[in-house]
Amino acid sequence: MVSVDIKKPSLCTSEPLTKESLGRVLSVFTNLVRSCYGPTGRLKQLHNGLGGCVRTSSQSSVLLSGFSVTHPVLKLLTASVQNHLACFSDCGLFTAILCCSLLEKFQDLNVTPHAFMKISQHLLSQCMEYLDSEACGCRMPVDFSSSKILLGLVRSILTTKPTCMLSKKEADHISILVLEAFLFTIPQDASTGVVLGKCLYVPVKNKRVMDSAVYPGLLVEISDLHMTNTPPLKRDPSGAIKVAVFCASLSGDLANSGEGAIAVHHGVSLEATVLCQLLNSGKQMVKDGVGLVVCQKVIHPALQQYLKENGVVAVERVGIALMEPLQQMTGSQPIPSLQLLSSACYGHLKDLQTRRFAAKCFFHLIPSDPIVCSLVLCNRNETAWDELKVACQTAEHALQLTVRDPWVLLGGGCTETHLSSYIRHTSSAQTDAILEELGCSQAEFQLVADSFCCSLESVACCLEHDNGSSLVDTNWGHVWSLPPNTPSESGWSNFLSKCGCGLCQKEEGLSWRTLRRHSSPSLPKSCVQESSVSSADSLILDCFAAKKNGLQVAVETAHLILDLSYVIEDLN
Ligand SMILES: [Zn+2]
Repeated sequence: MVSVDIKKPSLCTSEPLTKESLGRVLSVFTNLVRSCYGPTGRLKQLHNGLGGCVRTSSQSSVLLSGFSVTHPVLKLLTASVQNHLACFSDCGLFTAILCCSLLEKFQDLNVTPHAFMKISQHLLSQCMEYLDSEACGCRMPVDFSSSKILLGLVRSILTTKPTCMLSKKEADHISILVLEAFLFTIPQDASTGVVLGKCLYVPVKNKRVMDSAVYPGLLVEISDLHMTNTPPLKRDPSGAIKVAVFCASLSGDLANSGEGAIAVHHGVSLEATVLCQLLNSGKQMVKDGVGLVVCQKVIHPALQQYLKENGVVAVERVGIALMEPLQQMTGSQPIPSLQLLSSACYGHLKDLQTRRFAAKCFFHLIPSDPIVCSLVLCNRNETAWDELKVACQTAEHALQLTVRDPWVLLGGGCTETHLSSYIRHTSSAQTDAILEELGCSQAEFQLVADSFCCSLESVACCLEHDNGSSLVDTNWGHVWSLPPNTPSESGWSNFLSKCGCGLCQKEEGLSWRTLRRHSSPSLPKSCVQESSVSSADSLILDCFAAKKNGLQVAVETAHLILDLSYVIEDLN
């Protein structure tokens, strides 16, 4: 008898996105991302409800992968931010907050979604053009002959992750290490192309952050026994160590011999045959002058013993993650099967040393061209270590993006307020031709432009979590943080010394306004001049490519959400 399940019809919701329901759905998520933003952002604890590990973080990549959402709007929004993070690593919270703010502001307006989308798309392209133009006053060229701007970028990324628990001195130390590690991954020989090497993170917990260090090459964890029991190294006439890397198991286990049937003649011992084959490969490698054998999986004890007796160092179970960096830095071809062992597969190392960090022992594989490096990262506890690793990876990615696009944006909220001042200025005088092209009235255009600018400014305001307020200066359009309970406007100047990014200093005749009060719009000046750049220390900087993409994704995702009119769910 065949049972037939009747197919359920799809659930079609025609209006899941009325202004009211959209507001309700977004409010919790908006508050969540806003409260995480910036160096004083509040931490979030993620539990899985089953008693598994608890993760504490304020980073968007950790948060978004740590919770699940069911509402289609939130699914779309989180997927967009996660897509952005997959390509750029940084500025996820910025993207999420800006998108939520745009949707929130739209709800207060009396314009159609269509008009809102057309006008804000126009404003977005104005922002993009400005950010790419020579006249842009919130971006800075990167001088690769000095470490100042690159260090500022890395430090800014690390210090906006409070769960890392870094002091200023520690943040400076880790920033230098991340930059140093990044420089190791750039090939010295430009003719080899632009393939960057790898930085591997080696966890050493319960040691001081200041004990963190970068080593060229790879650190492979070994047992204590290995440490004292290593034979003297065999080197070739040039002094280099010949390396054989196996991605196949050398355990002699038949489970590793692939698929298909094995026919065994009567009286033949399969184990003995396989072991004989392993030992023959060992002999071959000894004859070829191999000094180090590295295996991704297990090496049979008899082969290990044979290699040791013949002065060859063997390291097993290094894992798949090390295969690519090993190949990159030694020039070896990982050997997938014993039959494919040949001298063409061998690579070379400059040296091999042993190192000890806390209770852990390592072989330090030192290449002649250190395109691969290991960052030994120490932090107070597991939570702080996990967070620091993600922050370092984000910073490393930001450096890679900066090499491709050699600019940085002013951070600390200054890019948002400067851009908003610029858009307020340009949109105050819109030509009839543009209004006609957008199919809207001057009044509609102004309403949407004001919402767009307020959304940008509200992202800058989210950096404030302690009841202070945010001011914007009328000269450069940068944001300034005012402590809570400050007296009237005339006394502001006493409480302000520099702007959010740290580039603009207080000067005679400078005036400020609160972000909610708008004065007559004027073109914000640029303060990015060579002299001020070289004199300003500890600038807060943002990754140019990541922030620009975040801006685009935020606006386009808001449009996508406003354009949703039906949600169709398959219930089968
Ligand atoms: Zn600034």
